[in-house]
Amino acid sequence: MLLRADLHIHSTFSDGRASPSEILYIAGEKGLDVISITDHDTFAGSLIAHRYQSKIGGLPLVIIGVEVRCVEGDVLVYCEKEIDFPRRIDLLLEKAHVESCLVVPAHPYDIVRLGIGDLIFNYKEWDAIEVWNASSTKGANLKAIKAAQLLGKPGLANSDAHIPEEIGTSYTYIEVDELSQGSIMEAIRKGKVKPVYRSRPFNSVIKRALWSVKHLVRGFMKKT
Ligand SMILES: [Zn+2]
Repeated sequence: MLLRADLHIHSTFSDGRASPSEILYIAGEKGLDVISITDHDTFAGSLIAHRYQSKIGGLPLVIIGVEVRCVEGDVLVYCEKEIDFPRRIDLLLEKAHVESCLVVPAHPYDIVRLGIGDLIFNYKEWDAIEVWNASSTKGANLKAIKAAQLLGKPGLANSDAHIPEEIGTSYTYIEVDELSQGSIMEAIRKGKVKPVYRSRPFNSVIKRALWSVKHLVRGFMKKT
């Protein structure tokens, strides 16, 4: 069966506006079969969504994930459980693979969002590459597509949603035999994926910018 997946979404556990349960509801309304909440440096939102989904059943399924800020740049990691990762990519890759997790560089050529850039070629162990991020520029995404081709790695397309309107703006078709986190991760490893390249609608770009400013101001007020 072919599943529609958006594997890069932020919740209230980092800088996203929607809670994990709201994200699940909206993703279901938008026809997504699989999501991953990948908050910055915390599995918390993802674990809550996973627990909630296991209780209510149905779709979308939740892949447990996180976006780790390494010294070299951001990487997405998908695991069956919460794991504490080192912030150096070589060490992270090693630990992630011992734990059977997937490691995917996030928006590698997006300089605003701390992509790792050409360092992508220093590592051969990526499980896939985020070749399309709906929040990045087309130029950055085209470079990521080229890098995935040169490295011979599967490509994922994600929204990197921070507000509800952005959920599912880009997504990946994943072909699986069975509806489970394990078989979805295995299908990604084997490259049974087809990324769908879409950009965000203009009104969500403005809403996202307003949300980011609000979030920054809130963070600043908390510190002072
Ligand atoms: Zn992100």
